[in-house]
Amino acid sequence: MTTNPNRVIANYLPEQYRRTRQATVNHNYLKEQFADYDHIFEKIKRVVLDGDYTLGEEVDRLEAEFAQLCGTRHAIGVGSGTDAIFLSLRALDIKPGDEVITTPYTFYATIGAIVTSGARPIFADVCDDGNIDPKQVERAISSKTRAIVPVHWSGRACNLTDLTQISNHFEIPIISDSCHAVKATYKGRNVAQFGLANCYSFHPLKNLNVWGDGGIVTTDSDDLAQRLRLLRNHGLRNRDECEVFAYNSRLDTIQAVVARHMLPKLENITETRIRNAYFLDSKLSHVKQIRIPNRRQSCREVFHIYSVFCQNRDALQRQLVDRGFDAKIHYPVPMHLQPAADFLGHSRGDFPAAESLAATTLSLPVHEFINTEQLDQMIAVILKFYEN
Ligand SMILES: *Cc1c(COP(=O)(O)O)cnc(C)c1O
Repeated sequence: MTTNPNRVIANYLPEQYRRTRQATVNHNYLKEQFADYDHIFEKIKRVVLDGDYTLGEEVDRLEAEFAQLCGTRHAIGVGSGTDAIFLSLRALDIKPGDEVITTPYTFYATIGAIVTSGARPIFADVCDDGNIDPKQVERAISSKTRAIVPVHWSGRACNLTDLTQISNHFEIPIISDSCHAVKATYKGRNVAQFGLANCYSFHPLKNLNVWGDGGIVTTDSDDLAQRLRLLRNHGLRNRDECEVFAYNSRLDTIQAVVARHMLPKLENITETRIRNAYFLDSKLSHVKQIRIPNRRQSCREVFHIYSVFCQNRDALQRQLVDRGFDAKIHYPVPMHLQPAADFLGHSRGDFPAAESLAATTLSLPVHEFINTEQLDQMIAVILKFYEN
């Protein structure tokens, strides 16, 4: 790795937490969401009084509750969503020379987890809804393929029927990046019930969020669960016996307290996002310059991101931001065109569907602290923009 030694990488305050001063509707709602912080402090106090700082009862309880929410046998708390994916791949013994198929239309961490596991990421292009195209997955399979990592982008389930069929046919496990998709369903079943494992993040800006980093893996496999429990905690069977030299990526106990505090609120958070999203759909479906991805009746889409595909996207985004609506782009450059992906030798045109979505996607806030009046005002800006 070559980095410029003169460039200091500060512990930066990510832009995402900064509120644009003039914005009336922000993507960020953490202040409102954690207004009841006193209750959380009370619960944390108990951890401090008990001295139960790593793993411990709170993590055990959260794991049981999260597994129940997903309808899986196991949930294993880890340090982040990225580690959830990374450790799952490590648990499959993935190593240099192996290939893992994934989407170029995702957040950096999906690819980071694959690359740091030692495997080479093999991209398969997406469908026009932003989710990996099973036909492209099938084409990308080689004798070196060890896993498929689909991403339920924005909280909309991938085509799990076809992906499951491919996985079964080629005997290649699916490790889903479900970081956007807590409580999402596919044909009436939680997405966590598909594939070998599902990986979630508790990052502050995810639908189920904590006060820092955290993640969790769900699985029905006793064996994988056991491997993950070892890998996240130095490979320790017990205090004096190390089965495999491994990592320290435990879910922080204090963050488990926050996650447990948020769990009972999650259904309401989800429902409100869905309601806001469908409200925007109903108004934006009349705008011919905007394409709304296909909504499938049989799937519960949880709208971690509400994104539509727009003509003249950059100018529309500027207009919205100028008017106080925090429209964002998730994300403008697909993974195969990132500097970090140079070693893979891709160029523009390799994954045209992902490139086209990246050039037109626009995300609008739909969180639970936005009211209908604000949504209406935001829609008015969009309608006005396309009039000209
Ligand atoms: C947030 C996110 C991750 C990483 O989660 P962290 O908890 O931030 O490590 C991975 N994949 C996707 C799609 C994400 O949105």
